[in-house]
Amino acid sequence: MQYQCPKCQSRKILPVASANEPAVRPVVPKSLVFLIPLIFILLLLVVISIFMWIFGNGAGQTLQIATVVIFLATAIAGVLFWRDLPDFKISMQSFMQANKTWKCRDCSHEWHV
Ligand SMILES: [Zn+2]
Repeated sequence: MQYQCPKCQSRKILPVASANEPAVRPVVPKSLVFLIPLIFILLLLVVISIFMWIFGNGAGQTLQIATVVIFLATAIAGVLFWRDLPDFKISMQSFMQANKTWKCRDCSHEWHV
């Protein structure tokens, strides 16, 4: 199994699903589905808090509570994802092996495994 383009050796490759060989989608753990948006919200809240500390009289109480709540939710989702990680890796690996058609994002070269 090659994880790089045979033409330009780029690692930016995309799986291509075809009709006669339906791609087995990797099972994305629910914890990851929650974790990614939570991290973005947390970063946003932290950035807003920092700006309010610099330009205002400190972050408001609502913002502080929201930041703590989102932080706790992110931590819980992080722990759950950590537990799901071994299964997720196996699922991703079998997906990579099952997928037969790949496309390079750099040179648009398509090839079959
Ligand atoms: Zn290429």
